Amino acid sequence: MRTSRFPLFTSKETPADAEIISHQLMLRAGLIKKLGAGLYTWQPLGLRVMRRVERIVREEMNRINGLEVLMPAVQPAELWEESGRWSLYGPELLRLKDRHKRSFCIGPTHEEVITDYLRQELRSYRQLPVTYYQIQTKFRDEIRPRFGVMRAREFVMKDAYSFHIDQASLEATYQDMHSAYSRAFSRLGLRFRSVGADSGAIGGSVSEEFMVLADSGEDEIASCDRCAYAANTELAASRPSALPINAPAPAEERSTPGVHSVAEQCEALGLHPSQVLKSVVVMADEAPAVLFVAGDDELNEVKAAHALGAETVRLAEPEEALAATGVPRGFIGPRDLPADLTQRVDHRAAGLTNFSSGAGRADWHWINLNWDRDMPLPTCADLRTAVAGEGCPRCGEGTLEIHRGIEVGHIFQLGTKYSEAMDARVLDEDGHPQPLIMGCYGIGISRVVAAAIEQNHDASGIAWPAPLAPFDVALVSIGADRAPAVAEATEKLYDALRDAGLDPLWDDRDARPGVKFADMELIGIPHRIVIGERGLKAGSLEYRARDAAESEAIPIDDVVEVLQ
Ligand code: ATP
Ligand code: MG
Ligand code: MG
Ligand code: MG
Repeated sequence: MRTSRFPLFTSKETPADAEIISHQLMLRAGLIKKLGAGLYTWQPLGLRVMRRVERIVREEMNRINGLEVLMPAVQPAELWEESGRWSLYGPELLRLKDRHKRSFCIGPTHEEVITDYLRQELRSYRQLPVTYYQIQTKFRDEIRPRFGVMRAREFVMKDAYSFHIDQASLEATYQDMHSAYSRAFSRLGLRFRSVGADSGAIGGSVSEEFMVLADSGEDEIASCDRCAYAANTELAASRPSALPINAPAPAEERSTPGVHSVAEQCEALGLHPSQVLKSVVVMADEAPAVLFVAGDDELNEVKAAHALGAETVRLAEPEEALAATGVPRGFIGPRDLPADLTQRVDHRAAGLTNFSSGAGRADWHWINLNWDRDMPLPTCADLRTAVAGEGCPRCGEGTLEIHRGIEVGHIFQLGTKYSEAMDARVLDEDGHPQPLIMGCYGIGISRVVAAAIEQNHDASGIAWPAPLAPFDVALVSIGADRAPAVAEATEKLYDALRDAGLDPLWDDRDARPGVKFADMELIGIPHRIVIGERGLKAGSLEYRARDAAESEAIPIDDVVEVLQ
């Protein structure tokens, strides 16, 4: 490709509303263009990068026998009513009506559609296991779209769904997926970690996230400095070392009528606890538990509310939520929580997020404790114990370190939640109908592009890992208009590189060398070759790797080999 035919819409200005570096650079390099809140056009340069991400992910999915499908973005409400999510999914679900006044949504995810598809096709356990995947546009009406494509409303996801006759088969595919994700993110040149909570003696985890490590990440990861334990603090917070793991709380600590453990409540609703309690607050004090909703993940809030059968409001701001409950303030939260708790607590070390005691108010407190999984509902006593524990819950010896991460992938063992609700069954060996056991696995394809930039940039712009770069090499010809030999040599090299399977971008614009260099650096091409009259006379070209401080002269005939 030549820049004369491939306009680079680059800019020197840092857009005012772009807070993080990847968002700034994606706009400045001309990768994306904003259409509206959380809506972006992928320009040709950006789309090249996204296609490279897709390709690697597709290859890894195919390698573990994933079958590619493409499902509609628009989904009938009836399916969501069957699964129960039409009422549970909050305003993140974009709902619409067609001309016949029938309700639809724009898919934020595709469990219902795939379950509907395969309940019609799968008949027997002999057809299992199977894994289907797609790379497709999702819509989530995020309450605060931000950071460009990092948290967009419309975005591209790879979503995969696996179907099994038994748990062992699900676990095997889940492990294959884990490996496929690890290979894909390694091939993409990302520094990442898979995090989750391990289920101890039972082995394996039911949900793990893949986190690209970056200070701008919205998630917090706790990892042990001694052993391999790593978890989203949402999970880590649920496992303070001082608390018994997976053990029910003593009866007297959860004696409140109607308040059961998270696990019990979730079971009643057919939800896995890890799907439920993500960014919510649980207060089990003397009186009926009040679920205090903070944060912006509406889906989880609503699910959690239902799961706990607690009094709930679904509002973004705790202040508003508090007012809307109509409950006297003193009623919310544990009144016996020591007033000076926030001052004494290093909440990050304790794995508590958004810890706040409602400063200046003597009558109530709240703690946004991301309580999760099989833990009993926390009581005030638990909370006091939790804020003491900063040790590793696995080895008990190490200390937890906190890093920030960007969630680029998430793998789940779903079980029979959808197949039971939607009556998706196959015949087992004895000819009895059994609900399909399912797993689901997502990768934020468009988010990966932004995450890669967070990890790979410098003062001049983006520095793509080679597998992600929109072009493999930049050819910058200098003085080609005056010296025909330069134009000729560049053309020859351009063809030779293409013959060798590389994708060169030839900057043939009539612009000053400094302008060309700046653009090639901003858009992050990993290699640059400068073709000038003086070098040609000496039989060499000037080569510079994007991350090198200096250029070096290399013989013309060696260029293709050096770049391969
Ligand atoms: P988050 O916690 O960031 O809101 P999520 O847990 O809601 O993400 P999943 O339902 O696990 O997301 O979806 C699978 C993947 O899709 C995520 O791991 C993430 O990479 C990507 N993703 C989710 N929401 C967005 C978004 N608003 N914009 C871009 N990518 C997203
Ligand atoms: Mg979300
Ligand atoms: Mg998440
Ligand atoms: Mg997730």
